[in-house]
Amino acid sequence: MSKSKGYAAVTAKAPLAPYSFERREPREHDVVIEIRYCGICHSDIHQATDGWSDYQEESIFPMAPGHEITGAVTAVGGKVTKHKVGDKVGVGCFVDSCRTCTECRRGLEQYCTVHTVWTYNGREHDGTPTYGGYSDRIVVDENYVLRMPDNLPLEACAPLLCAGITLYSPLRHWHAGPGKKVAIVGLGGLGHMGVKLAHALGAEVTVLSQSLKKQADGKRLGADHFYATSDAETFTKLKGSFDLVINTVSAQIDWSEYLNLLKVDGTMVVVGLPEKDIPVGAFALTAGRRSLAGSQIGGIGETQEMLDFCSQHGVACDIEVIPIQKVNEAYERVLKSDVRYRFVIDMATL
Ligand SMILES: [Zn+2]
Ligand SMILES: [Zn+2]
Repeated sequence: MSKSKGYAAVTAKAPLAPYSFERREPREHDVVIEIRYCGICHSDIHQATDGWSDYQEESIFPMAPGHEITGAVTAVGGKVTKHKVGDKVGVGCFVDSCRTCTECRRGLEQYCTVHTVWTYNGREHDGTPTYGGYSDRIVVDENYVLRMPDNLPLEACAPLLCAGITLYSPLRHWHAGPGKKVAIVGLGGLGHMGVKLAHALGAEVTVLSQSLKKQADGKRLGADHFYATSDAETFTKLKGSFDLVINTVSAQIDWSEYLNLLKVDGTMVVVGLPEKDIPVGAFALTAGRRSLAGSQIGGIGETQEMLDFCSQHGVACDIEVIPIQKVNEAYERVLKSDVRYRFVIDMATL
């Protein structure tokens, strides 16, 4: 074992503060990564405040969050073939899975039916708690480490590892592309990636945001249309318009209203995670043979495909880089939607 330092919440809702913990010595297939940047995801805040206690078996404290990790390889185990010292690499929301269940074998490790090892607030197969990317380094099996684009800044690519893949996977699965009308609900960290990726995939993109405050931004990111959901007219005007609605909002909004915006056979995919259940009206579904679906990040293969796609199309995140000392302030600002569009911690400040 060797010492690692980072920032952690010692108990639920405690502010993040400097914290030291142990990382394992690299095994044969492990890669040691010096972390340069880590994005701040809304789910870091949900988990550090134990906001998902209704849905999670346990939250593990002290908790060092962070699952949008980019950095450089500083050492590799004897049998590593996929990465070498000096490579620019990334780690997303999970660092291992069972590798043998049907889903793992299909490359859907995020839906592993046995045990997905989450990057933080999780447990390794032997029960050891995991600590995330708000820290100086991390040790990860080579099969769960991604190659980062060479032509894009490492800091702007960190949020691709959660926000990026969270939108890319459903856009691909439900065939967003030329001739398809896609609505992105919410223009935050997730939503802004949805707009960029759906646009790069060739779909006609509409943003549904609370107000028109971010309209200019939405258009710059690639949206063809922009509507305010605070205006009731929007729901009348756009009724039956979309093939695909991706809902990135984690607040309690009325999903039925958004289902009515779908065409016949359209699908609304939920990727935002509200802390309480949301009731859905059956008529909104039956009226147009519509589907309500969910999607959770993406597998390792698809995440690499997304990173390669972003490299090709020059897609990265709009970020605000902060020193780690400002992480608690950044949390407050995320909760007020006061960031365009993702905070990324510069780990050199640790
Ligand atoms: Zn995340
Ligand atoms: Zn599995």
